[in-house]
Amino acid sequence: PLPAPEAEAQVRADDRGHVFHSWSAQGLIDPMPVATGEGSTFWDYQGNAYLDFSSQLVNLNLGHQHPDLVAAIQQQAGRLATIQPSIANDVRGELARLIAEVAPEGLEKVFFTNGGAEANEYAVRMARQFTGRRKVLSMYRSYHGSTSTAISLTGDPRRWANDTVDSGAVRFFGPYLYRSPFHAETPEQESERALAHLEQTIQLEGPQTIAAIIIETVVGTNGVLVPPPGYLQGVRALCDRYGIVYIADEVMVGFGRLGEWFGIDAFDASPDLITFAKGVNSGYVPLGGVVISDRIASAFDTMPFAGGLTYSGHPLACAAGVATFEVFRRDGILERVRDLGTRVVEPTVRAWAAKHPSVGDVRGLGLFWAVELVRDQETREPLVPFNAAGADAAPMGAFAAAAKKGGVWPFTHFNRMHVAPPLVIGEDDLVRGLAALDDALSVADEAAAR
Ligand code: PLP
Repeated sequence: PLPAPEAEAQVRADDRGHVFHSWSAQGLIDPMPVATGEGSTFWDYQGNAYLDFSSQLVNLNLGHQHPDLVAAIQQQAGRLATIQPSIANDVRGELARLIAEVAPEGLEKVFFTNGGAEANEYAVRMARQFTGRRKVLSMYRSYHGSTSTAISLTGDPRRWANDTVDSGAVRFFGPYLYRSPFHAETPEQESERALAHLEQTIQLEGPQTIAAIIIETVVGTNGVLVPPPGYLQGVRALCDRYGIVYIADEVMVGFGRLGEWFGIDAFDASPDLITFAKGVNSGYVPLGGVVISDRIASAFDTMPFAGGLTYSGHPLACAAGVATFEVFRRDGILERVRDLGTRVVEPTVRAWAAKHPSVGDVRGLGLFWAVELVRDQETREPLVPFNAAGADAAPMGAFAAAAKKGGVWPFTHFNRMHVAPPLVIGEDDLVRGLAALDDALSVADEAAAR
């Protein structure tokens, strides 16, 4: 291997010369070369360590280089590296069974994809074929992925340049009490009014034209928006009333992020289709899928499902998924997330609101929290404008740089910082990382005061 400085220079040169990056103006980025990772930490080529409070893209639930996942992939590669999807395969079937066992009652079958966008793409396709209807309702402030239908359903600026490839997409406002679109003052009001708005949207669009409603169980990248009491049950009831398929997008929150196998378990509602990806195997090999209710699955007992992928249920990915279940159970990952979330993270981040003038709202569940930064706690003016870029985004850039200097890799989006470390993070690392973010918030305080 090359000595570190030469290796780093080579990585930079190859990347800048040849890698075309996601969501970026290619000339304005400078991707950081990362040399290696272990558990909740990764290192650059200069030996600087970063505690990953973003779990990469909130997918690295079991951390870097988990020995059980690595071994499972290695063993599977030695045994049968790939097999096409119309064949019955042991790890594919085992993972589907394990997923069905932890899914809500009445969801027994799994269609595997290569990631989250495809999972949503296929869930929508199933709902359309099942209902014979075309429209799909999704929220403003949502992200569902970047393939044609998934990006059309997305309710954030990433959709704008792709608008609107799938003409069946219709958006509505979801609950967001801190900036309530419904002028609500309590979670109960927010829930009730958001449901009334959704029902009105359904009626105005024509219930008989709507195949599905897709909702992130807790809205992820667009703000860790935890639904108020009764909201998701209300969505279920509306779907029942109008014959609409309820799709829960659990790509970010499934597999432990909220301290539950599926996030929906925290809200006592029952979707018809659940989409997943990321945490199912921490992204060691790309994998996603749709968990399907018996009612929908049985409609395809005689009607052929119109969809498929060469790598559906790839054995290497599924082997890592089976190992994920073993680790979760052996190491009590769900219990650990609930414990660390309520005992360590929640009190710490809630205390920031009193301590830092730039902290406007704090919300979350499990190991998934958002801290919303503002210029003024009274007016709630965001620290940077919605969709800010360049100089407008500088205060968030300064906050992120301070966090990195303190050894934490933060997740930031618009005027928010999210706390989403790997679910295996040691308590001492968690406390240390939170302290570094606490320090970095002074930089946001200074920016707010300017
Ligand atoms: N849905 C949600 C809620 C997500 O957070 C993401 C990715 O961040 C996706 C879908 C898309 O997943 P993928 O990037 O694997 O296609």
